[in-house]
Amino acid sequence: MLKCSTVGELLYFLGIFEPLQVQIIEELGRPKGEQLLIQLQQLPLKQSHAVTRLGSYSCRGEKPLSIRLQFAQEPEQLQQTLLHEIAHFLDHQTRPAPCSYRNPHGKSWQYWLQRVGADREADHSVAMSTLYRQRLKPVARCKRCGQLLERLRRLPQKQRWLHRNCGGLFVPIDQI
Ligand SMILES: [Zn+2]
Ligand SMILES: [Zn+2]
Repeated sequence: MLKCSTVGELLYFLGIFEPLQVQIIEELGRPKGEQLLIQLQQLPLKQSHAVTRLGSYSCRGEKPLSIRLQFAQEPEQLQQTLLHEIAHFLDHQTRPAPCSYRNPHGKSWQYWLQRVGADREADHSVAMSTLYRQRLKPVARCKRCGQLLERLRRLPQKQRWLHRNCGGLFVPIDQI
């Protein structure tokens, strides 16, 4: 996962490029949709060490710059966060005036989030995913590299949790 340097590579890795492609082409038609898909695939993917954010989409003016993700998330969370940021990219790129990207979680973003998340769990909703993101909290820190693990609940006591990226042991935050 860490070897992915573009959004396209991660989409293939997670096996969600095709459903996304279908949604985007359906929504925007061929030339525009395909153009955006190419841009999205080539968009740089960066690793974020931010504690308080699971991901972010950055742009300058009308130009998309990158998507950043906190890779310490569990796989299902990572996928949801990726779709959240992709909805920002699509919203930004399809606005009448993309030069200023205001109100990033407004109606048009919510619409895109539903489009790109439509084939996920049936009860997936904007309210749910927003709530989910807000309730995540750092629960453990990797002993080796210091990365934080964010979850809804604390880690189960009896199990050892290893950081997939570096092999270090996650130590619950209340034990540090
Ligand atoms: Zn957002
Ligand atoms: Zn680590």
